[in-house]
Amino acid sequence: MSTPEAAAAAAPPTSPVKRILAPVRGRLLIAGMCAAAGAMLGLVPLAVMAHIAMQALSGDTGDLWGPVVLGVGCMAIGMTLVIAGELVAHLADNRLTFDLRMAVLQRLGQVPLGWFTGRASGEVKQALQDDIATLHSLTAHFYTAVGRAAGAVVIAVVYLLALDWRLAILALLPFPGFFVFLRHAMQASGAHMQEFVARLGRINSATVELAAGIPVIKAFGGAHPVHAGYRDAVDGFARAFTDFTRPLVVSMARAHALIAPVTILGVVLASGAAFVAMGWMQPVDVLPFALVAPGICAPLLLLHTLLHDLQGATGAAQRVLALLETPVLPQPAPGLPSWPEDNAVRFEQVAYAYEGELPVLSGISFDLQPGTVTAVVGPSGSGKSTLARLLLRFFDPVQGRITVGGVDLRQITSAALYQRIGFVLQEVQLIHASVRENIALARPSASLQEVEAAARAANIHDRILALPRGYDSVVGEDAQFSGGERQRLSIARAVLLNPPILVLDEATASADAENEAAIQDALSRVVRGRTLLVIAHRLDTIVHADRILVLRDGAITEQGTHTQLLAQDGLYARLWQLGGHARPAQEALPC
Ligand code: ADP
Repeated sequence: MSTPEAAAAAAPPTSPVKRILAPVRGRLLIAGMCAAAGAMLGLVPLAVMAHIAMQALSGDTGDLWGPVVLGVGCMAIGMTLVIAGELVAHLADNRLTFDLRMAVLQRLGQVPLGWFTGRASGEVKQALQDDIATLHSLTAHFYTAVGRAAGAVVIAVVYLLALDWRLAILALLPFPGFFVFLRHAMQASGAHMQEFVARLGRINSATVELAAGIPVIKAFGGAHPVHAGYRDAVDGFARAFTDFTRPLVVSMARAHALIAPVTILGVVLASGAAFVAMGWMQPVDVLPFALVAPGICAPLLLLHTLLHDLQGATGAAQRVLALLETPVLPQPAPGLPSWPEDNAVRFEQVAYAYEGELPVLSGISFDLQPGTVTAVVGPSGSGKSTLARLLLRFFDPVQGRITVGGVDLRQITSAALYQRIGFVLQEVQLIHASVRENIALARPSASLQEVEAAARAANIHDRILALPRGYDSVVGEDAQFSGGERQRLSIARAVLLNPPILVLDEATASADAENEAAIQDALSRVVRGRTLLVIAHRLDTIVHADRILVLRDGAITEQGTHTQLLAQDGLYARLWQLGGHARPAQEALPC
């Protein structure tokens, strides 16, 4: 069987839904046909009832058992076919949703880490959870429901036409009328559709702004602009909603009234009475029309609703396909050297620009010698975090290259790279698992003793022991950590991994004074003997670094030791004067 990923990759330019469903298309067609045949057979008992009633009214007391057995038999086979169709569709759906989730997860495992920093996790959740659930209703229910509805409508129409084509045409006339009204409704509201969608988008973002601004609004009270913006968005949406729905409501009401069972029955009885009066048919011949024609309404409405649902599924399929087609981080060809001999890091004329943006780094060249500490400082927005992320291969440079031991990062597999380069970043992500599993993320086979030793080195062991279930406490359930504590957990992860190269980005950014002392203490133990790249906003933490690089507007403008840079009296000296000396140098990170 072809996989969803392969179907997405090798797909011809067809509709997103067709491309997504390609691997199970055959099974869905079989399911739809079973359902259609089942629905057709399900109508036979109605025809049998009409037949028996006609026989009874005409005084014929002939064989009744034959039609009864036929009706019951057809109903039983019909139900079996419908159930078989549902089973086939659900099995196909199980297979497809499983394959899609696996394919998306596999893809996300190969995309550059930087892809995640540019996106809200809601976007991934939407595709992985909500959109695949939408596709579930499409795969498991759409085809069988369409089969049942279409089968019922087709057999009913054929049956009525076979009985008396003149009365059949009159009885079926309201149905095309339904579609005429429907089209009219769509055209009338279509003009307001764009405005409606735009206002809906505006109300969504105004709601997010309002929720994010609640602390500010509560603190400052009064008529905050966020309030006014939200009110305007709601008013605008209410107007757009009224404009959109007013023409729709009238036409839709007419359309639905036209195909209400009672309307169809009225048409059948009135036309039937006229036909009888004209001697074209017997009163008893009108009976099957009265029984069967109103029964067309429900499946027809269902068909209409299903086709509407298909539009929602198209959007979901598009988003899932987009995820399946996200560019992956290129991996080295098998057979190439996968790991260099030493851990010397070199940036060679590196430039980087975020997608569609101007370059944020250009002409960056420097070395990190094994066992040395290099700090990167500079004003906010100068590109420090981007530089750290390039070394962690969150994304690849647009120009130049980064090497470790002379091997380009692009020639090192991700698995090998993250065994050698550890990191402690500003935002620490903890997963919903035990504290022990969180620390042992990069080395799941580590023993409890090793995990505890790492936690001790990171100054977080005692805090973990104070939790209700110690190392088995689950993050988010019985273990809540502050920003500083999360960073110490992240340091414990790095200690356990024991990488020769370590990248620290703003390691004390979210720590209070007590936490910061604990973090600095932990780091001083972790950094010994490693190649270290520190992104620092607090200059007093890096005064002992072997080398300090000063970044300005994406370029290295100064480099040297703390003393050399102060002597140069450039940007570093100014940053130092602006507050870098706020704390005594002896509290700095021992390097
Ligand atoms: P620093 O760490 O020195 O504060 P960054 O490396 O975070 O600087 O950012 C450098 C520049 O790149 C800034 O102008 C920032 O707005 C931009 N930038 C950072 N991350 C992204 C991103 N994911 N997408 C687009 N631009 C970004």
